Amino acid sequence: MSIPRFVPRSSWGARSATKISTNISPELGGVAIHHTGGFRFAAADHRDCAGQVRGIQRDHMDGNGWWDIAYTYLVCNHGYVFEGRGVGLRSAANGSDFGNQRYYAICGLVGGFIVYDEITPQLVYGFRSAIAHLRSVGNAGTGTEPHGIFVSTDCPGSRLYSLMPDMEPGPGKGSGGWVPKPPPPMDSSYPSAPVFPGVFLHYPPATVHSSARTWQQRMAARGWSISVDDVYGEQSRRVCLAFQQEKGLTVDGVVGARTWYAAWNTPVTSGGSDPSAAPAWPGVLFSYPPATVHPGVRTWQQRMAARGWNIGTDGVYGPQSRTVCLDFQREKGLTTDGIVGPATWQAAWASPVT
Ligand SMILES: [Zn+2]
Ligand SMILES: [Zn+2]
Repeated sequence: MSIPRFVPRSSWGARSATKISTNISPELGGVAIHHTGGFRFAAADHRDCAGQVRGIQRDHMDGNGWWDIAYTYLVCNHGYVFEGRGVGLRSAANGSDFGNQRYYAICGLVGGFIVYDEITPQLVYGFRSAIAHLRSVGNAGTGTEPHGIFVSTDCPGSRLYSLMPDMEPGPGKGSGGWVPKPPPPMDSSYPSAPVFPGVFLHYPPATVHSSARTWQQRMAARGWSISVDDVYGEQSRRVCLAFQQEKGLTVDGVVGARTWYAAWNTPVTSGGSDPSAAPAWPGVLFSYPPATVHPGVRTWQQRMAARGWNIGTDGVYGPQSRTVCLDFQREKGLTTDGIVGPATWQAAWASPVT
């Protein structure tokens, strides 16, 4: 049998897997059910869905270092089934060796936590046809389990979980009483974030979308020096990189759901323009040649890398560090001498990222 509304990898612009494994025994298990996580995610317009799938693949490959997108299939609210790793291959999504050995993984492009995405009957039907397909041609057993049965996680969320019986294409076995944990209380000191629009802001090429303005306005309100113009270009990317570094997010320069929500849901700390955030100048001039080797060099290199400069963070102030320093000093109107002294040090924290 085939899946109606099937979107093969070639149609959504999948990158090639760096490696594959056929070491699975799905006949001993079946299919695990996932959602995209604790934030609303569903795209209103199906034209955005392929981009979401590409973004998830990018997260999994570039962020997590996995071989490919982790899921076997992904299903959107419009009833389309996107081919992830596909039939016969081991998934990386189920959180345990047992889970990945015995279960395929299907992810709904929906999420939520306190406020959930609406889930359409088309999405449930997409799951049902994908599960039937995996049983018919993928050797999947009749088990259908929530991700949370394998590892401690709220995935697939209480709303999608409650619809699992409707995904059952034939006689299957139940999931044995797994119940998602209740959500933690909301911190009312944070302004509520607008729903992630489902468009991944990235550069290059620049992403031009009204949601770029929403994000830029928020970052500007947090104190970052950033133009508010609908265009996610090089400046936005630098702010994003520095922000991701500050918040311990995956530092990829792409505003996906996590980076989006962090702009609203995390406390404002150093940001890009708070002079008090600069650590004390270590009292040593960094220069080259000869190379300066000092713990403070690494601190400065890490800060420059977080600002988006291409610089190693090895604690050695060599030719690359000097070049970055010269470019930075030129950009900021400082004395252009290639030496990191108190003024250049301070500017690395105090001056806006441009
Ligand atoms: Zn999951
Ligand atoms: Zn869609």
